[in-house]
Amino acid sequence: MHILLLSCIKATELIEKRFYFKLSFKEKLQLKLHTMVCDACTNYEKQSKIIEKGIEMYQKKQHDEIDMTQLKDQISVKLNKTEN
Ligand SMILES: [Zn+2]
Repeated sequence: MHILLLSCIKATELIEKRFYFKLSFKEKLQLKLHTMVCDACTNYEKQSKIIEKGIEMYQKKQHDEIDMTQLKDQISVKLNKTEN
């Protein structure tokens, strides 16, 4: 029983870890059980999901900007070719 019951510190660690690594079945279960009984970590999980979404959007935005630069380069190459 105590193996499955996480401390809040451990639970938040798992929430963070989930961003970068796949959790094992046991870890997922531990986290699920903990958030069922702990409001603080449930809120933390919600907040971290919002942050995660924000990071995703930020990364996507950067990705789009890189594509735009490439696109501009391609256009300018074509323009130069036309001029010559
Ligand atoms: Zn907790």
